[in-house]
Amino acid sequence: MMMTGEQYIESIRKLDLKVYLFGERLKNVVDNPILRPSLNSVKATYDYAAKPEHEDLMTTTSHLTGEKINRFTNIHQSTDDLIKKVKMQRLLGQKTASCFQRCVGMDAFNAVYSTTYEVDEAYGTSYHNNFLEFIKKVQKEDWTVDGAMTDPKGDRSLPPHKQADPDLFLRVVERRLDGVVVKGAKMHQTGITNSHEVLVMPTIAMGPDDKDYAISFSVPTDSEGVFIIVGRQSCDTRKLEGGDIDVGNSEYGGMEGVTIFDNVFVPNDRIFLNGETDFAGMMVERFAGYHRQSYGGCKVGVGDVLIGAAALSAEYAGVERASHVKDKLIEMTHLNETLFACGVSCSCEGHPTKSGAYMIDLLLANVCKQNVTRFPYEIVRLAEDIAGGLMVTAPSEQDFKNEALAPYLEKYLQGVCGVSIENRMRVLRLIENLSLGTAAVGYRTESMHGAGSPQAQRIMIARQGNINGKKALAKHIAKISE
Ligand code: SF4
Ligand code: FE
Repeated sequence: MMMTGEQYIESIRKLDLKVYLFGERLKNVVDNPILRPSLNSVKATYDYAAKPEHEDLMTTTSHLTGEKINRFTNIHQSTDDLIKKVKMQRLLGQKTASCFQRCVGMDAFNAVYSTTYEVDEAYGTSYHNNFLEFIKKVQKEDWTVDGAMTDPKGDRSLPPHKQADPDLFLRVVERRLDGVVVKGAKMHQTGITNSHEVLVMPTIAMGPDDKDYAISFSVPTDSEGVFIIVGRQSCDTRKLEGGDIDVGNSEYGGMEGVTIFDNVFVPNDRIFLNGETDFAGMMVERFAGYHRQSYGGCKVGVGDVLIGAAALSAEYAGVERASHVKDKLIEMTHLNETLFACGVSCSCEGHPTKSGAYMIDLLLANVCKQNVTRFPYEIVRLAEDIAGGLMVTAPSEQDFKNEALAPYLEKYLQGVCGVSIENRMRVLRLIENLSLGTAAVGYRTESMHGAGSPQAQRIMIARQGNINGKKALAKHIAKISE
């Protein structure tokens, strides 16, 4: 049964999460003012699934049970599914103007589903069966699952087994009849405090000596030995001030954290890879590919909000009709839609894997993400250009509420007559939030490093680009025979 947004919140409240923020363990994770907006963003993935007008994008039918499910728990069955995934992400980006976090798990499900099928085929293992039981449970319970890939990695020039500290990549430290015990950490865990389970995957392709590191599994986020240290975001303490203007987006946000696995037990039926080092690379490549596709949806939706905010700020300042402003808005739109075109195209060019689940076109997905490492920066630059300096120099919300100061601020910060100062400040603070503030984690900087830093895509583009095939084309046209 799909959960309502409220049921989702209560289900997270029931977890015994061990979460640290500003050096202290939180007693109440769900109502914490710094974390709550990020929980609200995940809640939106439940709220919008319940709206009839968004049913087609937000829900689908499970190919395993025939039941109606949230699309965030779907195993893609066609290119149409892949396209709808991207459109769903754009929609939620538009509605939350932040990272709604639930895609990491969705992308992990799809990578692990098809990879386990191929591991079993090669080794006679039963990981795919384990995963089928797991994903059926996820769909039935409508869980949010965090995909966990990024290990700390220590000295980047060394493989996992050669690191000075053997725990710098998450690894198996004990093998028991009923399962394994794992130790390590996963960095930048998007949405980890808002997830029911954490689905762990290896972070790089591995060699035969890295057996203990080639491990994939899922455990509840409140398992014994799992704890989370929340990442700092710029301007995060503004959320403690009690106002709703200076935060820019008071309802929604994103969160990331370091997740520590301090000798965590994983039962056999939740293990999806265990020592088959030659398949670690496939799992990583597929997960990264799906998440690079995702950015052609979510970042475009957030970009839509930023373009709208820039246009509004121009309207409020009376420069809406200036030709250079119009042209900047055109440029922002062009860049944003180019990202969407990439997200859609790698979906259209998708193909079935051996398991039957659909995979995106890897080259185009990597091109998509490579563009995402650049275009949002230019979109932000143009938004800042249009917004003007006031976006970072304006006095605080409290000053506007101070009776002695308010008349002066209202007199001197007035833009176009008839537009309230409050509305002008609201839109400027939203632009600040998206370009420099807490949402920059989910928009600007995440565009650079989320789903892999630029160089990771360039390696994939080199591998997929088929330069020899292109040389052959040139030879043919130039009538070169060697
Ligand atoms: Fe989803 Fe985008 Fe956030 Fe990744 S960055 S979890 S794709 S919203
Ligand atoms: Fe991300």
